[in-house]
Amino acid sequence: MDMIVDHNKLAGLSFEMGAIRPPSEGGSFSLLIRVTRNCPWNQCTFCYGIPYNHEKFNLRSVDDVKADIDIAKTIHDEIKKVSREMGYSGAVNNVIGARLTRSIPQLGYSHSFISVFNWLYSGARTVFLQDADSLIVPTPQLVNIIEYLKEKFPTINRITSYARAKTIFKKKEKDLEELRNAGLSRVHIGLETGDDELLWKVKKGVTSEEHIIAGKMVMKTGIELSEYVMPGLGGKALSRQHAENTARVLNEIDPDFIRSRPFTPMPDTPLFDDYEQNKLELLSPHGYLTEIKMMVEKLDITGRVCFDHFRNPSYRGGPGDLTHLLKQDYDGYKFPEEKEIVLDSLEKGLTISEERFLQTEDFIRLGSL
Ligand code: SF4
Repeated sequence: MDMIVDHNKLAGLSFEMGAIRPPSEGGSFSLLIRVTRNCPWNQCTFCYGIPYNHEKFNLRSVDDVKADIDIAKTIHDEIKKVSREMGYSGAVNNVIGARLTRSIPQLGYSHSFISVFNWLYSGARTVFLQDADSLIVPTPQLVNIIEYLKEKFPTINRITSYARAKTIFKKKEKDLEELRNAGLSRVHIGLETGDDELLWKVKKGVTSEEHIIAGKMVMKTGIELSEYVMPGLGGKALSRQHAENTARVLNEIDPDFIRSRPFTPMPDTPLFDDYEQNKLELLSPHGYLTEIKMMVEKLDITGRVCFDHFRNPSYRGGPGDLTHLLKQDYDGYKFPEEKEIVLDSLEKGLTISEERFLQTEDFIRLGSL
């Protein structure tokens, strides 16, 4: 006989979540807590704040964020209660999810419920603070939020966030230490390129020197650092200097993770207009491989290099067969030990005909981010 679930209040509970998080935070179903809305910069010509609908940035009050955390905690407690009632001692599994959504069908459409359920299902260990630049929140306020989160959810062992290098550059080392001591464990920074001409052209709003200072400060504090690079961003014209200067900046920082996000012009951005007006000549598949190879050859780092995005080079074998040239998992390749493996794979890619690779135009048609 079906148990009657007396937890209808779950259906009316929701908290605010932003649009995006790094893919590596999806692997562990991070709980998403929105501490600011949108991007405070909105000007990079390849992005233009499109992931946030180009909407205006604003800070959220600490009280509002804490109220969201309280709602997530109530959902968490109710799910655990159902688990105990069903004899699972608080553990969360598919049977509980099926039973809850059968009893309260609206839950199947509740982003907040689904998010907390998935988070519990994966161990309730990681949290991602949204949106594009959480470290812009004054340090005492962000420390307060992080401490509150850890108090409510003692199982958390990783708290991560996106941050602009310029924001970190303006902080003091003491700020980062306080955030680390509170529990901030990883930041994701969009380096995109280490080439100053290209940084200026794409209006990143930060210089290579500021990137280096910010990145080194994060590493010195002991907060893990993911730096995102964007092969192809300079088109054919700036390919070599983009690769070489990106390697130069990464060598100075030596981050824990380097994550490759090959450039695709996104509709409604200035760089898409440049591409349509033939002012930006995109790299061919072999052009991408050559540029990545130039960068990798110059890397002298001890972290991991990851190609954990579907826009990294993939080629067709037979019908329905798509092969990733480089592994696309979140931990990638450990350098320097696996550098030769990456270079060999890139060399191999250069022997495969360009027509077999997915093309940038394919991604444009897909409208992918
Ligand atoms: S790349 Fe980042 S900083 Fe630049 S506009 Fe997009 S979200 Fe904002």
